[in-house]
Amino acid sequence: MTEDTKIKAECLDCKRQTNHQVIATKLHAPFSPHEYHDGKEYSIIQCLGCDQFSFLKTYHDYEARYAIDWEQDEFDHVRIYTNFYPDASEVLNKYRISLPENLYTIYEETKVAFTQNLDIFTAIGIRSIIEGICKDKKVTGRDLEKKISNLKNLGDISKRDVDLLHSLRFLGNDAVHALIKPERNDIIVAFNIIEHLIQAIYLMPKELKRTNFKIHLDEYSKFEEFIMEMIRNHISFDFSYNYSIKKLISPRGKIPYDKFGEFEQKLNSRIKSGELDWIEITQNENQSDSIQNNNETFYKINKVP
Ligand SMILES: [Zn+2]
Repeated sequence: MTEDTKIKAECLDCKRQTNHQVIATKLHAPFSPHEYHDGKEYSIIQCLGCDQFSFLKTYHDYEARYAIDWEQDEFDHVRIYTNFYPDASEVLNKYRISLPENLYTIYEETKVAFTQNLDIFTAIGIRSIIEGICKDKKVTGRDLEKKISNLKNLGDISKRDVDLLHSLRFLGNDAVHALIKPERNDIIVAFNIIEHLIQAIYLMPKELKRTNFKIHLDEYSKFEEFIMEMIRNHISFDFSYNYSIKKLISPRGKIPYDKFGEFEQKLNSRIKSGELDWIEITQNENQSDSIQNNNETFYKINKVP
């Protein structure tokens, strides 16, 4: 390799193979005729997609040769590339603002372990991240298996994600208790699953808030959580106003037509049984509502939940 050579390398930020430019490179290949002929090359490279700098180690196996073109008598030798980030924290900033501090710390260390090919530590870290998410989201269960199964009640993750997480539990377990080094490829897949999970639980909800998309409230727990979020986020929430459900979730929330009655009933019974103290059922006394629907229930907000 020479400076200004363009090569394909794995970019951690772009999360795929991208074109990189070699900024500086040094080949270290001491060769004596009695030894195996190989060498290591150390390069600083820059991703042409996201501009991030990283450090590339190339192992040259000069004796493992293969033909590029038999007729032209053209041969090349095998190269093995390993790409390191000098400081993964640069890539992680978007996670820092979205994750709770403890969870971010373990995520950051796990990512660094991952980039440095420390596969046992990465597996242990992945297991800790799952534990951390359960703790942060107050998902209970007597062991990690139960907790993972209960994670699906969060509403943000699918059954498929939960099944994948069960597999990751074993990965971490083997690494901690049996000191079994996981396969690199398993680690890469596992890390992708974890990042997907963090995206679904922590990043996407924040990003959605910045859009004008309607939030689809198809489960009661989402519906109730959404009302609480609306109250917490709207400083101008009026405690003397009589809200209908539609008003409570407007303008961002949307309930499927066939769920409306079910949600209303469940909300009412939870209020009546005293499970919810921040909201009460009331009569509609709003002067401004000229058209009144007698079937609608109205609510008053007592305090910020
Ligand atoms: Zn990149």
